[in-house]
Amino acid sequence: MDKQGRLIVLEGTDGSGKSTQFQLLCRRLEAAGKPFHRLVFPQYQEPSSALVRMYLGGAFGSHPEDVGPYAASTFYAVDRYASMKRVWGEIYRAGGLVLSDRYTTSNAVHQTGKLPPEEWETFLRWLADFEYDKLGLPRPDLVLYLDMPTERAVELLRRRERETHSKGDIHEVDEAYLAQCRRAAHTAAALWGWVRISCVTPEGQVRPEEDIHREIWDLVSEHL
Ligand code: ADP
Repeated sequence: MDKQGRLIVLEGTDGSGKSTQFQLLCRRLEAAGKPFHRLVFPQYQEPSSALVRMYLGGAFGSHPEDVGPYAASTFYAVDRYASMKRVWGEIYRAGGLVLSDRYTTSNAVHQTGKLPPEEWETFLRWLADFEYDKLGLPRPDLVLYLDMPTERAVELLRRRERETHSKGDIHEVDEAYLAQCRRAAHTAAALWGWVRISCVTPEGQVRPEEDIHREIWDLVSEHL
């Protein structure tokens, strides 16, 4: 798609605090009176996410590796394509600001690590070509990558499970998989120019939500 609007993406491994930061960012934009369109992927409530739901629910196997990265990426990509066609493509083309919790970048984070490291770059190039060039999804103007050490992310995910009385999906319950996602994310961040936000202090403690939010807001403000 020709670049006309602006697209800002919040990315990170599971349990990095994306949803929390996304809500804080949306609230701040609303308070500032900036019009924007809000996207959250996958769109679980839409039929376009049927294969994502089957995959995460374990219909194709209970381990993420049971579905190869190329196949799994297509499940998520069609969900994005459907929402672009039906909901936000026009808004973006008209010059609007679109804010997204996850995007093509999530396939980079969650699927790349299924391959041996020597194949990562080839996969990432295929992914960008497929989603951006072939499907016509716009490339993000800014990707903010929330970097949370895996041990801390697992603690936060388990706490969320206890609080919500729900168990995580096949990605979220697999700690080795989450660690591999983080390694892959660092490769993608370097290749695709993501802005890294460390979610822990130099001593390794999780930073307060408001503190991380301020850093995000400063970066986003430059693009408004
Ligand atoms: P993600 O969307 O990346 O999976 P969430 O935003 O759902 O992550 O955060 C996971 C859990 O950690 C939630 O229970 C959330 O309330 C909590 N959380 C998120 N950010 C922080 C933070 N900076 N400090 C403490 N807890 C946090």
